[in-house]
Amino acid sequence: MELIHTCAQLLAPVVTNAQLLALMSISETRREEITSALTSTTGRFPDAESSSSRSEQNVELRGIATSRGIAIGPVYRLDDPVDLDHVEYSARESLVEEREDLMKALAETRSEIEEAREASGSRFGPEFAAVFHTQIQILEDKGFVDNIEQAIASKKNALLALRSVLDSYRETFERIEDEYFRERGVDIVDIGHRIMEKLLGVRSPVAPMQPGSVVVVDQVLAGLFARLEMDQVAAIIAEHGGSTSHGAIFARTLEIPAVTGATGILAEAQQGESCIVDGATGRVYLQPDEALLAYYRDAQREYEVAIEHLDALRGRPAETRDGKPVTLSANVGLLNDLRQADQHGAEGIGLFRTELLALAHRGFPSQEEQDQLYRRVVEHVSPRPVTIRTLDLGGDKGIPNVGMPDEENPQLGLRSIRLTLENRRAFRAQLRAILKASAFGPTKLLLPMISSIEELREAKALLEDVRARFEREGKDFDRTMPVGIMIEVPSTAISADVFAREADFFSIGTNDLTQYTLAVDRGNERVAHLYDGLHPAVLSLIDLSVKAAARANIPVSICGEMASNPLAIPILVGLGIGELSLVPAAVPFAKEIIRALDVRDVAEDARKALTASSARDVHEIAASRLLGAGLLDHPDIGAWLRNAVEEASGFS
Ligand code: PEP
Ligand code: MG
Repeated sequence: MELIHTCAQLLAPVVTNAQLLALMSISETRREEITSALTSTTGRFPDAESSSSRSEQNVELRGIATSRGIAIGPVYRLDDPVDLDHVEYSARESLVEEREDLMKALAETRSEIEEAREASGSRFGPEFAAVFHTQIQILEDKGFVDNIEQAIASKKNALLALRSVLDSYRETFERIEDEYFRERGVDIVDIGHRIMEKLLGVRSPVAPMQPGSVVVVDQVLAGLFARLEMDQVAAIIAEHGGSTSHGAIFARTLEIPAVTGATGILAEAQQGESCIVDGATGRVYLQPDEALLAYYRDAQREYEVAIEHLDALRGRPAETRDGKPVTLSANVGLLNDLRQADQHGAEGIGLFRTELLALAHRGFPSQEEQDQLYRRVVEHVSPRPVTIRTLDLGGDKGIPNVGMPDEENPQLGLRSIRLTLENRRAFRAQLRAILKASAFGPTKLLLPMISSIEELREAKALLEDVRARFEREGKDFDRTMPVGIMIEVPSTAISADVFAREADFFSIGTNDLTQYTLAVDRGNERVAHLYDGLHPAVLSLIDLSVKAAARANIPVSICGEMASNPLAIPILVGLGIGELSLVPAAVPFAKEIIRALDVRDVAEDARKALTASSARDVHEIAASRLLGAGLLDHPDIGAWLRNAVEEASGFS
C-alpha cells in the first residue's frame, strides 16, 4: 500500500483525472483492475499515397492459405510506425494556429477512438470496446491537457510541446520502482504517439482505412486484432508467418480471409490499389483485371451459398455412416464468436481462449470483466458445455504488463501455465471467475501447456483454495466442475498415463504439440513446409494420449487447428478421437466429411498412418479415403477438398 501511495504522489502533478489517480491509490488486491484503465493503442501511420501507379495487371503472389474465404478490396498497408522521435516538423508562424492544430489533433484522436469503440463493440463485443473507453479517459485527463497547453505556450511548437509532455510522463513513470506501474507509463506515451500522428496528419492528410480493406502487414501478430479497426478489415495478407500462429487463428475465428508468408507483398502492394485475396489457396492478386475480378466474384458467391446451404443443415448429427457420433464443438475467444458457433451448429465450446481479453487490455483483465464475460458465455451456450482455458500468454502472444521477460526462446520459456503460476493473484482471479460461471451452466476448466505433474497439482491446489472459500462464503458453483489439461508437450503425451490419473479430461493442442515434437516454430513461414500435424511422430503421441485416456476412462478431444484439416479428420476419427473442437466456420465442413466415413475404414487408415514413413505418406492415405468416400464430388465442399488434396503439403 505504501508503494501505491508513493506512485500516486509521484503521478499527481501530471495526472489529475480522478479516475486515473484513483487507479494509483486503490488497494493492491485489486491491482488487476488497473490494467483495464490504462491501455494503449495503435501506432498506425499509413502512407499518404492512396492510389496505385502500377501499369501491370494481375500481379500474382503466393503465400500460405491461412483463413478461408475470398475478399476483394483496396490495399491498406500497415507499415511499421513512423519514428515519431525523429520526424521533421516545422511550426506555423502564429502560436494561435499552432495551438489550434494541436487541439484539433487531440479532438480528432478522441473522435477516431470513439468511432472505433462503437464499431468494434458492435462487431466484436464489449471486450474490445472497453479498451477504447479507457483511452478516452486518458485524453480527458485535465492534467494531460493542461500540461500540453502550458508546453505549447512556452515552446511555440506543437510537436515539441507534445514531446516534452510525453517525456515528462515517461520520466515520472520511469522513476516508479514497481515494475507494474512503471509499465503503465508506456500506455500514456502510446496515446501521445497517436496524437502526434494526427498532428502530422493535420498538415498532410493521409488516407483513412476504407471499409472492406485488405490489410497488408509484416506479420499477423495476435495483438493486431486489438489495434486495428477490425470492422473495416475484409482480409489480411502478411509477408511473414505461418497458418497456426495465434494471429492466424484469430483471423480464422473472426472469419477474416487471410494469407500469410506472402513473400514480396510488402515490396509489391501499393496503398489503395485493388487486390484479391483467396484465403483457401493462398493466392493474392494485385491490380486484377475485369475477367479475374468476375471469376473471383463468382467464386465468392459460390462459397457464400455453400456456407448458407450447410448452415441450413446444421441440425443433422455428426456421426459416421456406421453410427459413431463425433462431437463437433467450437474454438472461440470473444463473446461475439458465439454467434458464429451457433450459426454453424457447434455442439458446445470446446476451447474458450481467454487471452483475447488480456491482449485487448494489454494486461491481466479485471475480476469483474472476467466474471461478466465467462458468465455470459456459459449462460449463452448452456445447456451445451463450455471449456474455459486459463490464460495462455507468452510465446507469440506477448503483451506488456504481465511480467513477461524478454527471452531468447519464448516458445520454450515462461509461457502459458508457467507464467500464470508465477502470477498467482491474477491466476486466482481467473479461477474465481471460472468457478463463479460454473453456477450458470456446464463448465469445464482447461489448463494449457502442462509439462509436469507438479504444475497440474499446483493449479488444482489453487482451485481447491478458491473452492473452499466459496464454500465458506456460501457461493453457488459446480462442485463437480471437471479440470482437464492440454496435451501440447511431447513429454506429457509420453507420460499420459500419469496425467490421466489426476486430470478429468485431455484436450490435445496439436498446434503446439506439432511445434514441439517436430522442433518447428509454428509461426515461421521459412519452416512451414516442415510443420505438419500428420507426421507419424505427432500421430503416435496423439495415439498414446488417446489410449491413456481410454485406460483411465476420461474423455479426450482435439482442439488444435488440425481438427479442421480435411486430411486429418479421417485419421483422427480413426485414432478414436470422440470430439473435435474447431474454428466455428469449419464445423459444417467437418460434419460433411464425418458423415461420409466408416469407422472401420478410418481405423485401418489410422493404423497405417502410425507406421508410415512420412507425413506425405499419411496425406496420401487420407486423400484416397476422401476420394473413395466420394467427397471430392460433394456439391458444397468438393471444391475445397479438391484443393486440399492437391495442395496437401500446405496443410497442418
Ligand atoms: C494448440 O496449441 O493446439 C492450441 C489449441 O492452443 P493455442 O493454439 O492457443 O496455442
Ligand atoms: Mg497451444
